[in-house]
Amino acid sequence: MSDPHAPQDLAPVTYLAKIGELMLKGKNRKFFERQLTENVRAMLSRAAAPAVSVRLIAGRLYLEYRPGAAMQGFFPENSFAPPGEAAVEVVLAHLIGITGWARAQVCGKDMAAIGGAAYRQALEARAAGASSFKIETRRADKAFPLTSYQVSAQAPERIVEEGVLRVDVHAPDTVIHIEIRDRVFVYRDAHRGCRGLPVGTAPKALLLLSGGIDSPVAGYRMMRRGMSVDYLYFHAAPYTSEEARQKVVDIASALAKFGIGAKLHVVSFTAVQTRIRERTAERFSTLLLRVCMMKAANLIARQAGAACLVTGESLGQVASQTLENLCVTQAAADIPVLRPLVGMDKEEIIETARFIGTYDTSILPYEDCCVLFAPEHPVLRAEVGEVRRLYARLDADSLIRVAAAGREVTDM
Ligand code: ATP
Ligand code: MG
Repeated sequence: MSDPHAPQDLAPVTYLAKIGELMLKGKNRKFFERQLTENVRAMLSRAAAPAVSVRLIAGRLYLEYRPGAAMQGFFPENSFAPPGEAAVEVVLAHLIGITGWARAQVCGKDMAAIGGAAYRQALEARAAGASSFKIETRRADKAFPLTSYQVSAQAPERIVEEGVLRVDVHAPDTVIHIEIRDRVFVYRDAHRGCRGLPVGTAPKALLLLSGGIDSPVAGYRMMRRGMSVDYLYFHAAPYTSEEARQKVVDIASALAKFGIGAKLHVVSFTAVQTRIRERTAERFSTLLLRVCMMKAANLIARQAGAACLVTGESLGQVASQTLENLCVTQAAADIPVLRPLVGMDKEEIIETARFIGTYDTSILPYEDCCVLFAPEHPVLRAEVGEVRRLYARLDADSLIRVAAAGREVTDM
């Protein structure tokens, strides 16, 4: 292996990211690209990454920094990543709008340099346990004298001669990528990106965030459609615990890593819940609580400049999520209620929850207000008119306004 202190290791470190869907956006492309670049800069500074130069050229995002010059800056208190190169990688792993990324070696535009870079990649791969490889070349610069095929054939000569790795084009342990552009980039181990559209290219949403598995996934899904998302949590202290609330704070901050700044609104709903308990038949209590939450959320969304609400509801998952009951909760809001999980099953939701890093927190046992409230035989198919009458009997409008006005707001 090469000496990590050798001069070549002080060369700039380059990360290469591929841009996905926004390439399809025609005339709007510039707008999406500008937002993506702004986002990565904002995330790098939040993550206390070293001074990184960020450029977006022809569908590729380049992040580059000099190890020697790095890390003289201060570390913001809300930094979410370990300092240094790891911070850059954490940012790329959370950057919505790229399909993949890799740490690349940059080399000169001739076969000797390319072969040398491929050789070094092969040595590293072998040290990491690989025994076979293949080369994949992409020639974006059509003026380069050799074809992709010729580059792929010539680059590995030294690797094969010295028996560092053996060629296997069908099931290689590692793929060495060569991209010939204004410079040449050589890398392996490309990571999968978050994909989607850059956060901030669609209007803001307010996510009803509970401590459960579903709602964080719903928020992430809408972030991937370009929405910036604020969070809203209802607690019922002292009936719900401080741990339940902390759980939501932790989930919100995990989710906020994918964005560029968000607010968490925390509302005490104890008075509203008590009123529901006093005046409503038990089987309607969950549904009426949902209705009251929607009313409060609608009010807060308007004040916070959010254009829609987002929930983690999924059709048929529990009694309050039949189509009829979803219609009842939608009717309580006058802005759209988006339910990105409506057609997903629990397995798929859990897979995403693990990917975004909220699953382990979500399954902690602390109960949220709805669980405390759950009636034994909840109404399955409520009717909008009937629920309106029950809601009127609650006389809860002013309780809801007071609860919303008394909310605590934290920057995430
Ligand atoms: P989750 O896993 O997101 O809690 P769930 O399957 O447990 O969802 P419910 O408890 O019926 O379903 O909640 C449905 C949706 O209502 C949630 O996804 C969330 O958007 C919202 N919600 C529920 N409880 C709260 C709460 N205490 N604060 C804010 N939103 C809530
Ligand atoms: Mg829940």
